[in-house]
Amino acid sequence: MTYFRRACVCLVLLITPLFCQAQCSTSGCNCQPFRPDNPWKELQDGFQRFLSPRCNPPCLPPCAPRRDRCARCCGINGQTPFAVVLSCSDSRVPPEILFDQGFGDLFVVRVAGNVASDEVIGSIEFAVKKLGTKFIVVLGHEDCGAVTAAMGLTPETPGYIFPSILHLIYPVVPGRNLRDVTEQNALHTVKVLRESSPIIRDSSVGIKAAYYSIKEAKIEALN
Ligand SMILES: [Zn+2]
Repeated sequence: MTYFRRACVCLVLLITPLFCQAQCSTSGCNCQPFRPDNPWKELQDGFQRFLSPRCNPPCLPPCAPRRDRCARCCGINGQTPFAVVLSCSDSRVPPEILFDQGFGDLFVVRVAGNVASDEVIGSIEFAVKKLGTKFIVVLGHEDCGAVTAAMGLTPETPGYIFPSILHLIYPVVPGRNLRDVTEQNALHTVKVLRESSPIIRDSSVGIKAAYYSIKEAKIEALN
């Protein structure tokens, strides 16, 4: 490589990052928080948007809202998520994608089996008390590995799962099937959240349990 070509390559490598930096400015952005009147309806509508052929792919309006530069940069001003979603850590259940929501919309707490551990309760209290979020969804799902393990359907579980997670899963009644226990577990989590936290059981906070069927492409309310 000649000296001149080497110099050109170096120059490009030096300059490119300067142009690629996407430093935030909210100039020209509408940073009004997204506050739907009916959060559960918005989440259901978002799921239908996600399922629609128009959104798979490409993502054309109105799909994938609030995922542009403005939506990201408005975060400089803080956050006002309109819903908390407590879901399983399962890689097939990503709340922002399933409900077709963008930056700043959802306060997501994920843990295997969507259980109400102390850390989960504290995280949700933060959203309710500090961020003003008034709606919570506990989302169970089909083929949940944590619930399967709690039912004793898997021969062995890694060391930390039992003491930290499985004892919080809805007490299993022998003979019940996986879907039933998963649904009962989501409802049980709602009950524990209300019983454990005065902040969460405030009358202005709505809590819904729901079940996501991967096969049937449905998210159904359980309460
Ligand atoms: Zn799961």
